[in-house]
Amino acid sequence: MIKNLIVGCGLSGIVLANRIANELNEAVLIIDSKNHIAGTCYDFKDENGITVHQYGPHIFRTNSKEIWDYLSQYTQWRPFMHNVLGIIDGIEVPIPFNLNSLYKAFPPKLAERLEIKLIDEFGYNKKVPILELRNTQDKELNFLAEYIYRKVFLGYTVKQWDATPEQLDASVTGSVPVSISRDDRYFQEKYQAIPKEGYTRMFENMLNHPLIECRLNASWQSVRETIQYERLFFTGAIDEFFDYRYGELPYRSLDIRFETLEMEKYQNAPVVNYPENYDFTRITEYKYFLNEKSDKTVLSYEYPEAFAAGRNERIYPILNEGTQSRYNQYLEEAKKLPHVVFLGRLGAYRYYDMNRTIAGAFETFEKLTYGRYK
Ligand code: UDP
Repeated sequence: MIKNLIVGCGLSGIVLANRIANELNEAVLIIDSKNHIAGTCYDFKDENGITVHQYGPHIFRTNSKEIWDYLSQYTQWRPFMHNVLGIIDGIEVPIPFNLNSLYKAFPPKLAERLEIKLIDEFGYNKKVPILELRNTQDKELNFLAEYIYRKVFLGYTVKQWDATPEQLDASVTGSVPVSISRDDRYFQEKYQAIPKEGYTRMFENMLNHPLIECRLNASWQSVRETIQYERLFFTGAIDEFFDYRYGELPYRSLDIRFETLEMEKYQNAPVVNYPENYDFTRITEYKYFLNEKSDKTVLSYEYPEAFAAGRNERIYPILNEGTQSRYNQYLEEAKKLPHVVFLGRLGAYRYYDMNRTIAGAFETFEKLTYGRYK
């Protein structure tokens, strides 16, 4: 009988395994159907010495000193402030769209008028979601809002989600608000960094404990009838766990295509977005993240597509009222199973970043420690 079985050796499962073994001194078996640990944070150094993120770019950031200190036990960091450019009418502008973008996109006099109006209306250093900016009454600000909506958000969002910004939960485009500032960073969190030796190495260090056994190439389906456990922590898809009895929870996925070029540097930022052109949404150039030197460079192109079980990965949950109420039906089922806990991006059916995923695993651990689970 295994004390703790964790299904899914991604970020949530690894954090939980690490804390159960280290702080509760209990044995953990963690399994994953993939042939590697780290889930969609998986990275590896390629033959040119460039660290590539197999499932697309991951930039760690948090405001939590607790989370930062916790991970820092297992890795050194390269401090890294992410920046993104977007190609609008062939011009590179900082994304999120900000006052610097304004001066890149418009003639100086017009940009200046718009800047003054934006500051008057919203205040300096404020962030305004695009859907909110579109509600302004001022004619010129309205022109600006429509411009940003069309050139930055509409095309990108339709490619990414197969839906317009209004058809999605406001938090989706709200996470990249127009910024009335000169801050070109993509994120504002206090701690922003990339593990010096990669995410996979950091996770290996977290799993390196005599009480943790990690089994790869082992799907839940293949063990569910045979492994006896006291507690199950399930970080996979909750709808699949319940054999889709209320229907599928939909996701968007990505077809990520890699390319190695014989040149030192391809683009002017680690990530360049293409809201209007091409079928991919963005190009990532990996050597930026750890400032790796090579006369070659590795790029990835992200082509969004529908999720289909067995064909690609569940990446982005498609959140709306319908899918949320379907998820709630699964949650009700979950409540009937006191020895099973669902967590992580797929267990919570949420658009989680790494920080939120770790916070979720901490919450599960704390409930476990304070006896809320058996
Ligand atoms: N988005 C956009 N244009 C951009 C950047 C973002 O329309 O240039 C929208 C798009 O809907 C996207 C969402 O904002 O899915 C969130 O973007 P983010 O970069 O946070 O996405 P992630 O890195 O999680 O894929």
